[in-house]
Amino acid sequence: MRIDLHTHSSCSDGTTPAAELPAMAKHAGLDVVALTDHDTLAGLVPAGLAAAEAGIDLVPGVEMSCLLGNVEVHLLGYFVDPAHEPLTQALTRVRTDRSRRAELMVDRCRAAGADITIEQVRAIAGDGAIGRPHIAAALVAAGVVADSAAAFSDRWIGDGGRADVPKHVLTVEHAIELVLAAGGAAVLAHPRSARRRSVVGDAALAKLAGAGLSGVEVDHPEHDTATRSWLRSLAANLGLLATGSSDFHGDRKPTRLGECTTDPEIFVALREASTRPDSGWSSP
Ligand code: AMP
Ligand code: MN
Ligand code: MN
Ligand code: MN
Repeated sequence: MRIDLHTHSSCSDGTTPAAELPAMAKHAGLDVVALTDHDTLAGLVPAGLAAAEAGIDLVPGVEMSCLLGNVEVHLLGYFVDPAHEPLTQALTRVRTDRSRRAELMVDRCRAAGADITIEQVRAIAGDGAIGRPHIAAALVAAGVVADSAAAFSDRWIGDGGRADVPKHVLTVEHAIELVLAAGGAAVLAHPRSARRRSVVGDAALAKLAGAGLSGVEVDHPEHDTATRSWLRSLAANLGLLATGSSDFHGDRKPTRLGECTTDPEIFVALREASTRPDSGWSSP
């Protein structure tokens, strides 16, 4: 049984429509796939309906942008109730702020000489929760940078870069509370990604374990082998479930569906940590 618990559709910054993701996941040899778009639940119904047709299980999820102290971290919520108002309202606020922030980032890019517009960026994002990958795509299209990696540099919209603008987001403790209140189970995404500034220390992880976190993403394309083994033993010591996922973004990242996967026993335990374990869409 192959299980990938972290993927994005075009409802956030992936390039695959949510309704096409399940068939693609099935084709990649997966039995279970979670849709975890950034700060939105909009893809869950189309993906769920398509999953039943494709013959794959779809786990409803979300990846919430949050703050741990003053660093941005990402929290995965699984089996959340998509109608839970405190959660949907908090996500709406974050998305509204993403829109404001995109305008400011485009202004900064323009001030730095890039001829891009907010209209272009909105067109690239479509209905998706707007974010830096969409601005990166506009910078590439305008010939300002050669590729997305160059856009994510200090010169442009990389963390703390001259055109980067922070998001107003929830604290991770608050996000965990919301996920639990919505019946879900919370897992900290890529806590040691080498590419990001937001590296979560051992003590901070222990604190989150005490605040209701169920698991931590260990096998992730941005974690090297040494990082994975360290995190795996840390998770065992803290009683956290060690998950594995691709963080698939379609054509926007090189990661393939199923590149990293979660053990079936871990998945069963994660399901049991939720109060809505049967809320996903099952293949018939
Ligand atoms: P945002 O949520 O708007 O701050 O954008 C963050 C998203 O940008 C992440 O979810 C990744 O998908 C993507 N991202 C972050 N860093 C990089 C990078 N160095 N290269 C390409 N994509 C990145
Ligand atoms: Mn992303
Ligand atoms: Mn993330
Ligand atoms: Mn992600």
